[in-house]
This record gives sequence, C-alpha cells and structure tokens, in this order.
Amino acid sequence: MIADLQSDCKNCFGLCCVALPYGKSADFPFNKAGGQPCRNLCSNNSCSIHDLLREKGFRGCVSYECFGAGQHVSQFIYNGKDWREDFEHAEEMFAVFPLVQQLHEMLWYLKQALTLKETQSFQASLQKIYKETVELTEKKPKEILEIDIAAHRSNVNVLLVETSKRYRADLIKRGKKRRIKEDFDYLGANLKGLDLQGEDFRGKLLIAANLSHSDLRKADFIGADLRDANLRGANLTKALFLTQSQINAAIGDIHTKIPNYLEKPSHWLDKKFSEFIC
Ligand code: SF4
Repeated sequence: MIADLQSDCKNCFGLCCVALPYGKSADFPFNKAGGQPCRNLCSNNSCSIHDLLREKGFRGCVSYECFGAGQHVSQFIYNGKDWREDFEHAEEMFAVFPLVQQLHEMLWYLKQALTLKETQSFQASLQKIYKETVELTEKKPKEILEIDIAAHRSNVNVLLVETSKRYRADLIKRGKKRRIKEDFDYLGANLKGLDLQGEDFRGKLLIAANLSHSDLRKADFIGADLRDANLRGANLTKALFLTQSQINAAIGDIHTKIPNYLEKPSHWLDKKFSEFIC
C-alpha cells in the first residue's frame, strides 16, 4: 500500500502541526502541547507562515519529516476523515500518527538498503522486514497503538547496521588509522576539509560542527543531529541514510554536493545567509 515515503502535506490533515508537542527553544518560539493545533495552522491545513518559518523562529518545522506518515494516517488509516469532523477519534489519530511516522522512517531506510548492491546477500531478510513493517502501518488504529515499536526498531536496526558495515567496508579496511576516535565530541567540532569518507556518524550530535569542504561520501548519517552543521562545499553524494530533514537542519551552499534523491533547501541558496556563516 505504501507508494510514497515522502510527505504530501496536501493530503494530510496537518497532523504534525497538531499531534506533536514543541517547546520554546532554538527551534520553536513558544510551547505547544501535543494535540493542540499550532496557532499558524490554517483551516485548509496549510501553514500561514510557510515561507517564513526560519525567520519566525520555527526552525524545528523546517527540519521535520514525516516520511509520508501524515497522508497515510489521514487518507488510509482514517479514510480521509479530518480530525475536525471526527472529534471522537481525534485524540486517537494524534497518538497513532507519531507511531506510523516511526514505522515510515524505518521503511525509508530499508528502502535505501534494498537499492544497494552491497546488501545482495541479505536482500531476502530486508524484503521480509520491509513487508512486515508495511503490514504494521496497515493495521487498525487500536492495533497500531499496541505495537512494540522499540522491539521492531531493534530488529530493523540489525539489518541497517549490517548494511552500513558492508556499504563502508572498503573504506573501513583502508582507514587503518582512524581520524576520529570513538568517543570524539562532535558538538561544534572543527572537521573542515577532512577526508571523512565512510565515517560512521550513526546517532552522533554534529550540532554546529564545521564539516565544510569535507569529503563525506559513503559516510553513515543515520540518526545524526546535523542542526546548524556547516556543510558548505562538502561532498555528501554517496552518503548513507541521509534524510531531507537532516539536510534542512544543516547549513550548506550551492557548492555542497548531496545525494540526487534530496533537494537543496532554499535557505542554502540565500546569499545573505550563507555569507554570514564562516
Ligand atoms: S509553524 Fe506552520 S509548519 Fe510549524 S507547526 Fe505551526 S502550522 Fe505547522
């Protein structure tokens, strides 16, 4: 049933803008509870400040990605019935959405793993868990609420870790002298211009790290926090498990090379903004 793992806001009831909470921080200007519609959400489910999100302090919205869970929950699980018309099920829908979002995120990674020649020897296992994950997203809302997401994620993770090892195998072998130690603190680190091909950035906090002009091909970025990481002039063409939301949260420019399935965010092309970054 899952045809698309990219958000399609036109077919979603603004679920991320209602169901999810956010807190006053560098990413949001004030607090909002989960289940409460954001004050910028219009009745047609569009955002009244869509083109000004960063300027108005909603950077968290720019870097959020539902991986197509929004339209799936709205149109498939709830048959196109808006929470505004079906208030009885609204709370349930808001609880189902973040669970389906996590399942869709797993599908997105699995889909990428399935495209790699390095995973040929365990394609059957990948296909099996992909199918199982799809089936979980097709369950009834009450069943979805009972899914042990953490347990399913850890099964998926085994295959994603294996994918990463095989994808980076040549570079791991080549890199006998690791440039970066296992316990390295990446927060704000200066990694400018380094050859970081095949590095494992899984789950790393790369917030405000300077990766400009670095060679990041074949690096694994699954779960890495790239908020304000400087990717100007960096090469990420064959990066693994890199998502649009990570790219949106980072800083790049016209010289940054990204995988062809991702798009350069408009703020990367804003001359005034990129001049500000050193
Ligand atoms: S600011 Fe816009 S995109 Fe962000 S939560 Fe509110 S309505 Fe949604």
